[in-house]
Amino acid sequence: MLKLNKLFSIFYISNNKRNFIIIAVFTIAFAFSACGGGGSSDSPGGEDGNGHTHTWGEWTVITNPTCTTTGEGTRECTKCGETDPNTIIPIDPEAHAWTAWTVTTPATVLAAGVETESCSRCSILGANTRPITQLTPDVTIDLAVGTGNIINSSPAGSTILIKGISNGYRYIKIKNATDIYIADNTTILGFEEIVVTPRALEVPDGAKITGGGNNIHIEYYEQHQTQDGHDILQEGGIGIFGNGTLELAGVFGNIFGGYSDIFGYGGDAIRTSGALKISGIIGEIRGGWGSTINGRQVRGGYGINSSGDITISSSIGKISGGEGRNSSSSSFRTDGGIGIRGSYITITGYVGAIYGGRAQGRRVEEEGGHGIFVFGLGCGVNLTGATIPGGVHGGDAVMGGQPGRAINGPAAEGWTSAQHWPY
Ligand SMILES: [Zn+2]
Ligand SMILES: [Zn+2]
Repeated sequence: MLKLNKLFSIFYISNNKRNFIIIAVFTIAFAFSACGGGGSSDSPGGEDGNGHTHTWGEWTVITNPTCTTTGEGTRECTKCGETDPNTIIPIDPEAHAWTAWTVTTPATVLAAGVETESCSRCSILGANTRPITQLTPDVTIDLAVGTGNIINSSPAGSTILIKGISNGYRYIKIKNATDIYIADNTTILGFEEIVVTPRALEVPDGAKITGGGNNIHIEYYEQHQTQDGHDILQEGGIGIFGNGTLELAGVFGNIFGGYSDIFGYGGDAIRTSGALKISGIIGEIRGGWGSTINGRQVRGGYGINSSGDITISSSIGKISGGEGRNSSSSSFRTDGGIGIRGSYITITGYVGAIYGGRAQGRRVEEEGGHGIFVFGLGCGVNLTGATIPGGVHGGDAVMGGQPGRAINGPAAEGWTSAQHWPY
């Protein structure tokens, strides 16, 4: 080995034109000599006249290496004092510059955020973190303070925080602002004097509502009453009413539609006139029950009722339509409510189960609510990737009428026919 090494050293001196070959072979020779010599060298260790392999000492640094750049320095052999002709100190993968901070969890009006130290050169994240101050909303609506309905006209771009347990029945209408947060431990109720389509929380087109915890309840307990010619129409209120596209993010408890216990429709839990996107975690979504005593056909409220497409990508405990009930001896028709109604419905997340509401009246032609109902040009259902352990079910009809279909529409993609209509 030593002879080979020496041979190439001589060859190197005598034939510069073939350097590229020499270097290649020289590297191989070095690999052998490093093993034999036991020295710690990271550049080719030449052999001096005494036949040893250089053992390079510590660098005298001129420029420190970093995580992205080589350094420069000099060093000598600890045996013979010869200076290493290589002056490049390799990149040091640990030599980061912890002078930057990267936002790893953005702050919101619901919670502080987190930022993590990061290398200003290579952007790798370090171990140290620090909090980012929780944002202050432009407007806070505290339901525990004051009484009566709340109409908010803050300009678009404002951030709204709703919190507190509703102090009686209060209707909240946000007219312009689309960035809406609901704190944990909040209960929003409706207000029974809203004349047309009662509701608990109304938001504008493009609203994104972010829930801050499991203890958020949005529901409308009571029936609504108006004088309508000779009839009195009562209607359960809607939980969340959107005026266009709507997104629900974050975490919520339950979102319920209101019931109607004299005669009227059950309220929808969520209704909007545009596309609905649910990326948040929600305990349960349930339409309110409707009931009849006299003079009017009624049905249960829908769990979700959208005029556009619906996507559910997160986790919902259960979605169901409300029951149609008859609590008297009269025979006006009482149908069950639909679980989810939309144009094209895509579920990629988890939903515990989907049910249409039961028709619990007194007439044989009554229908249970459909579990999923789609309508319009290009409508459909895609459940590819969905996890629905409890299945999709239409509501039954206790007097022997038509039960609701599990899915009423084109065959659902990504779902077994056994769970498709007829179930
Ligand atoms: Zn040496
Ligand atoms: Zn770095």
